[in-house]
Amino acid sequence: MIIGAGLGGLECGYILAKNGMEVVVLEHDVHIGGCLQSFKRGNILFDTGFHYIGGLRQGESLHGLFKYFNLLDLPWKALDEDCFDEVVIGDRSFPLAVGHDRFVDTLAHYFPREKDNLTKYVGFLKSVGEHITDAFLPREASDFYSTSLFARSAYQFLVDTIGDPLLRKILSGNSLKMELRQDTLPLYVFAQINNSFIQSAWRITGGGQQIANHLADDICRMGGTVRTNAMVTAIKDENAVAKGVVINGEEFMEADYIVCDIHPQEALQLLAQSTSVRNIYRRRIGALENTYGMFTAYLALKPESLPYLNRNLFVHDPQAQMWNAGDIATESVMVSFYDNQPALDLLSPMKWKEVEQWADKPKGRRGEDYVEFKMQKVEDCLRLVERRLPQLRDAIDRVYTSTPLSYNHYVLTSRGSAFGIRKDWHSPMTTVLTPRTPISNVLLTGQNLNLHGVLGVSMTSVFTSAEILGMQTLVDQMDVRHWK
Ligand SMILES: Cc1cc2nc3c(=O)[nH]c(=O)nc-3n(C[C@H](O)[C@H](O)[C@H](O)COP(=O)(O)OP(=O)(O)OC[C@H]3O[C@@H](n4cnc5c(N)ncnc54)[C@H](O)[C@@H]3O)c2cc1C
Repeated sequence: MIIGAGLGGLECGYILAKNGMEVVVLEHDVHIGGCLQSFKRGNILFDTGFHYIGGLRQGESLHGLFKYFNLLDLPWKALDEDCFDEVVIGDRSFPLAVGHDRFVDTLAHYFPREKDNLTKYVGFLKSVGEHITDAFLPREASDFYSTSLFARSAYQFLVDTIGDPLLRKILSGNSLKMELRQDTLPLYVFAQINNSFIQSAWRITGGGQQIANHLADDICRMGGTVRTNAMVTAIKDENAVAKGVVINGEEFMEADYIVCDIHPQEALQLLAQSTSVRNIYRRRIGALENTYGMFTAYLALKPESLPYLNRNLFVHDPQAQMWNAGDIATESVMVSFYDNQPALDLLSPMKWKEVEQWADKPKGRRGEDYVEFKMQKVEDCLRLVERRLPQLRDAIDRVYTSTPLSYNHYVLTSRGSAFGIRKDWHSPMTTVLTPRTPISNVLLTGQNLNLHGVLGVSMTSVFTSAEILGMQTLVDQMDVRHWK
């Protein structure tokens, strides 16, 4: 039984169903997908969370996993090789190119004196990516959580490797896909994620929801079930062994194993009645902090009003910190286009405390001041992005928005956090969680455990399933040794 039909839950469901287990995935929402959900407004299909992935080509980070999950044939669209991400700082633009050598050469054109440093930087990222499969090798698996790269500071690596402060900003400038904090971000997260995008970068035509739907269809084809409107309200256990779950407060369903693709703090709430979970564990998990949330402005554009860009823009205020983003000011915005419709999204970090005052009010009835707050944020984002896209404002037809409150409402994400539990290089053993819990047959999965994002969640679904099936079985089944 799997709680939550986000990417992690569906991938675990896929692995377990493929191995002959009777799988039931329970999703509280009307729609499956969690942060992969797409939604329609008028004739435009918007993506809520996921916007792009890296490393899909043969031999790259995500290829072997997506091949196993039967996801390679979805309509992936490669972003421009000479510039998949454009970092805009003030009035200057810098292209980040696909391919490790081209990445170095492109930036060395602007920073010739940093060419050797860039080569070292990219060489390091590449070697981290090349060792991604070590995590799956049985002899290495137990070391994964204490690997020294989880215990090293990403920021310190950047400072030690790159001399020019502007270049450091540029190399950090497309990293709205992780929370850049000097005092916490582990080098493993920074290097593995950035490397996968340098390998190759991809959008999906027609919405991220297709990933979830494809996995769910395959689970059902293999004999499993995916149920929506099924909120798990409790996990029942006896003597540290789970017996099943309660759905919507009334229906009991038995289970041999329970995989929680939900925040570990939420999983412990479901186990509130359990006497087998010691207070020390509850306190430890309860004390973990979460990464920031995200504000998104979904812009439906007038037809033919703005040319499609086959790259992402990351537009920053000249004073933007990049690391340790300020509390309230809108300093950085990601612009992500849709290739098949006149629309784009503006994404900008937003902390829970910015929206906390409306958290107790029901969705749709949070009041005029909440609407004004969101419109002010749209305006702040537009003012920044207009530096790069001066024609954007006139091209807008309609605007929709989401805040951390939306994620909290639809996906039940703790405090609307975008990337789950904040991993901390000072204490990897406590912030990078294993799938195991004090209840032997209750396991965790999803972005809260080690690496977030599509790559990280896909890796973690293998770690979680391996607790049931054995890592060797999965390594053989996925043919990991031939991924490179
Ligand atoms: C704004 C934003 C942009 C992002 N952009 C990218 C990107 O471009 N590329 C990338 O790789 N990653 C991106 N990510 C991260 C990526 O989307 C996530 O890491 C990943 O989708 C998380 O999957 P998950 O399965 O761990 O969790 P979730 O997607 O949160 O899934 C959890 C599921 O559990 C359900 N659930 C919760 N509680 C219960 C319950 N009690 N009973 C039943 N169901 C329950 C929820 O409704 C949800 O469906 C982005 C995230 C955000 C928020």
